[in-house]
Order: sequence, then C-alpha cells, then structure tokens
Amino acid sequence: MEIYLDNSATTRVCTAACNAAVSAMRDCYGNPSSLHHMGFQAEKLMDTARSQIARALGCMEEELVFTSGATESNNLAVTGLTAAYPRAGKKIVTTAIEHPSVLEPCRRMEEAGYTVVRLPLDENGQITPEAFGAAVDTDTALVSFMLVNNEVGTLLDAQRICRIIKQKSPGTMIHIDAVQGFCKVPFRLKQVLADTVSISGHKIYAPKGIGALYIRKGVRIRPLVVGGGQERNLRSGTESVPLAAAFGAAVAETYPRLEQHLAWYRELRAGLLEQLAEIPEAVIHSSPEGVPYIVNFSVRGIRSEIMLHHLEKDGIYVSSGSACAKGAQSHVLQALGLPRADIDTAIRVSFSPETDKTQIDALVLGIKKGLATLARQGR
Ligand code: PMP
Repeated sequence: MEIYLDNSATTRVCTAACNAAVSAMRDCYGNPSSLHHMGFQAEKLMDTARSQIARALGCMEEELVFTSGATESNNLAVTGLTAAYPRAGKKIVTTAIEHPSVLEPCRRMEEAGYTVVRLPLDENGQITPEAFGAAVDTDTALVSFMLVNNEVGTLLDAQRICRIIKQKSPGTMIHIDAVQGFCKVPFRLKQVLADTVSISGHKIYAPKGIGALYIRKGVRIRPLVVGGGQERNLRSGTESVPLAAAFGAAVAETYPRLEQHLAWYRELRAGLLEQLAEIPEAVIHSSPEGVPYIVNFSVRGIRSEIMLHHLEKDGIYVSSGSACAKGAQSHVLQALGLPRADIDTAIRVSFSPETDKTQIDALVLGIKKGLATLARQGR
C-alpha cells in the first residue's frame, strides 16, 4: 500500500473528476465552437465547469479563463497585465518565496526595463501587509504574491495585503497565485481586491494540464496565446472539455468540504508534530500559523534525497523541499534564513483528505528507521 504524502506536488484524481473527464471524452466529444448539437453540448459542459469554479471563488463565470495550468495563468497575469497597462508604472513588487512561474516572468520584465522588488520574509517567516504597503508606490504597475507557499505552507493575509496596496496606489494591479490555497483555505473574491488570480486543477484532485485565471471584470489583459479567439480572445486553442469538466467536478466535490478537511489536517499535523518532537534530530520549518496541510522539517544529519529514497522503499512518498526545484537548493528555505545543513536535509509532507493517522505513524517510523540505519552526513 502506498502512502502518498506529496499532495502539494500533485494529487490523485478524484472519482467525480475521472467520471466527468471520461464522460466528456466518450459521450460529449464535440468542439465547443461547432454550431451543431454536439458543439453546443460541449459548450454546455464548459459552462457548467466554469460556473462550478466561479461559485467556489465567488466570482462571475465570465471572469474565468481556462488555461493549461497555473504556470500559464501566472505567465499570462504577469506579462499580460503589464503589457495591457504600459503606462501604469515601471515597478513590480513580488516576494522572494514565489513559485518560478511568477519569478521567471518577473525576471523577464526586469530585462524589459522594469524594477522588480522581491519582498523578503521577516523574522517570523512572514511577509506582512505593511511590508507590501511600504514597497508599493504610484509607479508600481503590478504586485504579485502567493496565497499559500508550496514549500513551507506560509499563509499570506490576502485581504489585508490587497486593501493596503489599493489604499496606497489605486492604479496598481494585483495578481494572486492561489494554487496552494484554492479549495483548501477560505478565499473569496468578494473580500479580496485582486485583479487576477491563478488556480490549478491537479492540486485539487483534477487532472494535470488544466488551470484557470480569474480576471476581474473590466481589467484588460494581453493574451499570450493568440489564434482562434476562444475564451473570449484571451486564450486561443480548442478548449479541453474533458479537463475543464474534470476541474469543475473536482471543485464541486472539494470546495463544500473545505472546513471539514481543514479540521482533519489540523489533527494530522498535531499528531505529526507531537511525534517529531520526540526525535532530537527533527526540526520544524513550517510556522504554526501556516496552513495545516503542509509540514516542512529537517531530519538533521540525513540529506533530503537519501531520506526520501529510504522512505520510498517502504512505499512512503514525500518531497525534498519542492518538487519543482528538482535538487536545486530551495530559494524558499534560503529566504527563511535556514542554514545550509537544514536546507539540505529538508523534507516536505503534504496531506490530502485521504491521509490518515496510520500513515503519519508509518512516516515517523520510517524516519526513525532511517536515522538508525543511514549514514549520517558530516559525521
Ligand atoms: N504556483 C504554485 C504556488 C505552485 O505550487 C505550482 C505547482 N507546483 C504552480 C504555481 C504551477 O502550477 P501548474 O503545475 O498547474 O503549472
């Protein structure tokens, strides 16, 4: 039996999403642009998916554009907003702990003449709304920040951050990468004054290859992909009806259970932390104020990859820092100010509603076995 504790990297597709995708592929395979009945039915599936997602975000259907995933959504937001508002200013404010799909487009904007400010974490491992307020001025075209950090689970106060930014500079656009928080922590666009928001299907039990970008009504954006004019001209290409239908189904299933899932994650995290506290080599990097479904810690003396592969032998799957970093030193753990030895030994575990307490016990047992048998680094 596998013990999958890497749900921030990706998730297993839920039955509702599987069924929705299969049904769209087998029974409703028309092109939504076709004028006949088959096309109309496919278009209806797109509409249903859009409304399921809009309901969970608290926005209008026409404010959502389907993309291939959050990497595309983030690229579209950063480059598309700045291109649509060339006179909005020459500064971009973001954070040091963003996903590469935000950091890289920002770096390109830097090459194109923008000044990019990357806010560091403070001594509490946080980035406060006040820090955003201090960095933003009327020359700031865009602020881009994440709702939940994918490596350590830091939760940013999106509502207050947006309010402070708009108070200081009403013309500044705000993009939120909500990938690791959508359907997992309360987040409603009625309360959060964002202009664009990225979400991704495969982090919430839909297949890989589908995401969306919320674009507040009235906000202009320059498309990245042009062609046939689908998605109101903002994302050309024949729509992936099966993936969109699956995304909608996964959201409809997950969103109503958000509070119930959070309560379960809190229990799981408490159990894990309690057991890790008994291991002298274990040191926790995630803040208690962070989301309860991501726990990052080091097992001092044993390199992440060695521990990861040791656990894998018992069918336990975890991540070393971030799956996206693929062995490179994590910029997030660096931003946390961790010593090199802790960065090299960091493990991230991330839960799903299917995670249970016996799996946590197995993980801790696996770590203890690893400590007893594996060669220690630097000893
Ligand atoms: N942003 C964050 C915070 C993420 O964790 C990820 C996925 N690791 C992405 C963006 C990219 O999402 P996708 O895999 O859908 O391109």
